[in-house]
Amino acid sequence: MRKIALIFTLIPLLLAPLRAGNLWERADRIVKETIIIDAHQDVPTTLLKEDVSQPRAKGHFDLPRAFLGGLTAPCFAIFTSNTYDENHPAEFALRELARVYEFALKNRDRVLIAYSYRDILKAKREGKMAIVITMENSSPIENPSQLLLWKKLGLRMAILTHMSTNKYADSATDQEKWGGLSPQGKEMIKRMNLLGILVDVSHLSDKAAAQAIELTTLPPVASHSCVRAFNPIARNLPDSLIKAIASKGGVIGINFFPVYLSPKVYKKWQEIYGEFRKKMKSEGREKAVEFLKGKVKELPTVGVKDVVKQIKYIADLVGIDHVGLGSDFEGISVTPRGLEDVSMYKNLVYEMLKEGFSEEDIKKVLGENFLRVFRVADKRYWKNFPQMAK
Ligand SMILES: [Zn+2]
Repeated sequence: MRKIALIFTLIPLLLAPLRAGNLWERADRIVKETIIIDAHQDVPTTLLKEDVSQPRAKGHFDLPRAFLGGLTAPCFAIFTSNTYDENHPAEFALRELARVYEFALKNRDRVLIAYSYRDILKAKREGKMAIVITMENSSPIENPSQLLLWKKLGLRMAILTHMSTNKYADSATDQEKWGGLSPQGKEMIKRMNLLGILVDVSHLSDKAAAQAIELTTLPPVASHSCVRAFNPIARNLPDSLIKAIASKGGVIGINFFPVYLSPKVYKKWQEIYGEFRKKMKSEGREKAVEFLKGKVKELPTVGVKDVVKQIKYIADLVGIDHVGLGSDFEGISVTPRGLEDVSMYKNLVYEMLKEGFSEEDIKKVLGENFLRVFRVADKRYWKNFPQMAK
């Protein structure tokens, strides 16, 4: 009897490598079959400095790696720092947008710009990549009436501000000025509803996010945010906001930045960053950056599992229909191990399979949930402006 019991104990152990092999095969197939939407990438700022059509040794994004990873639709955020808010940010933002268009034109055999969810489906059908144009810090839109112009240029989703409070909203990482949204910020959201531009609450203060979620009549999104229950920092979402987003059919894209994912990393990062700022003043930028590069290696390690933990938390709290991916690639200085760039979504799928997620649920997280909200926004636009539906 003992021998039989021993055999039964050993069978799963012996089969484990086979099962792992099988999971990799499944992960591979899922990545190929699925529409992968990454709700936040800072590629436009990279495009100001260099081309990303060919392989590059640095950074998180280039076309060969994106195709290898199965990425269907990266959301390219037109980003301007709040430090330029008073200094013609529109000019800066339009320069970024021009680079995005030039990039799409140069690679038109394999890249297109997504003016609607249909273009994302088209890209998947044709083995191409669809760029979704979004915005991080809406200061370049000088007043709400200019939104129409940006919609015509392809804007699909926008965050009112970034690290600092601006004329539209209070930021999660700055002083409160408006008690949430400013009157102009509220006007922006009303116009976004009309034009089918999704309201993105990442970076907003809790009050601003709550008001934006309340005010929008489209599904609200947080394109690149983590869960505050794991790491109690202002930049992460509390359960109340996660529930509010879900209650209106919205989606939260999990940010891959280890500093947001893990309190241990955040604590160490604060120390390093403090020293970095001091060095900037005393020894100049070059030496300070060199110092930062060295110190980053000392940060505690974060892995794919930590991202999956966040996905699971949101799925358990409000359901799998409300969680997606918003890596923040090209905008973060550190990445989790195993998610170093756009070629590695497969590692995430493997880990989710290991955790027992169904293929149906994995596909929702990879892209179907964001596709759903883009579709709702497009239908709204076409209803209000039927001539645009062609
Ligand atoms: Zn951001």
